[in-house]
Amino acid sequence: MRYIFRTDRHHVESNWNDIWKAQSPHKTRHLLWRLCRGCLPTRVRLAQHYVDCELGCPVCDDEVEDDIHVFFGCVAARECWMAAGQSQLLENPAYQDGTVAERVFGMCRNEDNAMLGRISSLFWCIWHNRNDKIWNDNVQSPSQVGRMTFALERVVYRPSAATSEYCSCCGS
Ligand SMILES: [Zn+2]
Repeated sequence: MRYIFRTDRHHVESNWNDIWKAQSPHKTRHLLWRLCRGCLPTRVRLAQHYVDCELGCPVCDDEVEDDIHVFFGCVAARECWMAAGQSQLLENPAYQDGTVAERVFGMCRNEDNAMLGRISSLFWCIWHNRNDKIWNDNVQSPSQVGRMTFALERVVYRPSAATSEYCSCCGS
């Protein structure tokens, strides 16, 4: 099923179901969905909704904080991509232009579900790190964010006890 969603400035026609195919924890896919719906409360978006707040990125304090900056442009976010082993995807010419939603849906079309899961986890960790800075004045290093991303992947792929290859009674 295909949907057309009207953002503030752009029409985005994509298969929203692709987001839910990402092999990653639900909370990470939900973040991706909110991001593509234009629902994340970046400072630029808050200001567009008449919230009186600073516009600068709370992590780097170099540029205004919009969706593109948080996940693609911020120097700290770019280092997180590298620490998570995803710099090739970050630099992929296919994902250099357009809105965040257009870039994410491009990834949905071109990447497999496992890769989409890694991206989904990375985005969640970048957003979590940003919130941690705002609310707790705590910012993690890119390598810490990268490790958190890998940890999220393990949550998904860890086999459950029921599928253990060893017998729970005798261990053989
Ligand atoms: Zn920044």
